[in-house]
Amino acid sequence: MGTPRISLAPPVTERAAAPDISLVIPVYNERESLPFLFERLLPVLEGLKRPYEVIFVDDGSVDGSLGLLLAFREAHRSTVRVIEFNGNFGQHMAITAGFRSCRGRIVITMDADLQNPPEEIPNLVAAMDAGHDTVGTYRVGRRDPFFRKIASKIINAITDRITGLHLRDYGCMLRAYSGNIIGLINESAESTTFIPALGRKFSISPAEIPIGHTEREHGTSKYGLFKLIRLNFDLMTGFSLIPLQVVTMLGLLVATLSLFFVVYLGIRRLVVGPEAEGVFTLLNINFFLLGVTMFCVGIVGEYIGRIYQEVRKRPRYVIRKVYDDET
Ligand code: UDP
Ligand code: MG
Repeated sequence: MGTPRISLAPPVTERAAAPDISLVIPVYNERESLPFLFERLLPVLEGLKRPYEVIFVDDGSVDGSLGLLLAFREAHRSTVRVIEFNGNFGQHMAITAGFRSCRGRIVITMDADLQNPPEEIPNLVAAMDAGHDTVGTYRVGRRDPFFRKIASKIINAITDRITGLHLRDYGCMLRAYSGNIIGLINESAESTTFIPALGRKFSISPAEIPIGHTEREHGTSKYGLFKLIRLNFDLMTGFSLIPLQVVTMLGLLVATLSLFFVVYLGIRRLVVGPEAEGVFTLLNINFFLLGVTMFCVGIVGEYIGRIYQEVRKRPRYVIRKVYDDET
């Protein structure tokens, strides 16, 4: 486990005539942000002075984002491609689809909402040129709401412990991957996934650089609290068995403590005689243990759910249309 199977990556010749840099951007109802994104993106990419391609994946937007993307593509047919999904399959599936069709030697992912400034792209490219196979980013001077910052700090710490991946900022999607890593990610056909973690898993020389972070100026976040919690459960159960092992250890601990308690009560029964007080304390302890049991069943269920999703083998996403050179 853990050792990357480099041989699974697509042969280098397949990528020979390809652009140097691919940018993959998932888009879900980003009508307000897109015009600003288009405006800032091209100068940055042109400034790199290397062949590039941009792949937008429209994740079932219903606000007219696709129309904006296609208009942008019309104006830049040689460099911009659009993949249209047949519904909303989530950010990570959108990136997965982008990865499957990108051809660059360096592949960069970015959000469409401009929370990660496109102007940082040259820094990512520079770090990749220095020989790293993944370059992550972490947000400095983060401008999210206070609650969101605290919550993500705690979640980051727990996730880091459990998955052992040591990503400094799980929420930051401005990242770069080498063609090799992309090949390996493409081989991992998991039904739910978390791209940065997958990339980190396969990486042999990762780097992380600081980037500035701005508040979302246009449109709203597509992640509510529930979706965020779900994402983190996926991350933990998808990359580690520790939650299951914790459940086993917890069971063992409670069983051991109960055994001592039973022996103690048995002796008390002999010494003091029958007692009926303390019913509520007992009830309390019972409810607590019931809670622990339900939580543990839930964790086991998370894994069973994942197994169920995998064996069902439904398509992870459905592409309605690809707008590339031929269309
Ligand atoms: N996104 C997507 N599908 C979804 C949710 C989000 O493609 O189901 C895209 C979204 O358009 C954006 C990126 O993923 O480009 C990050 O989403 P968002 O900014 O809402 O997340 P946040 O920054 O609030 O975590
Ligand atoms: Mg955002």
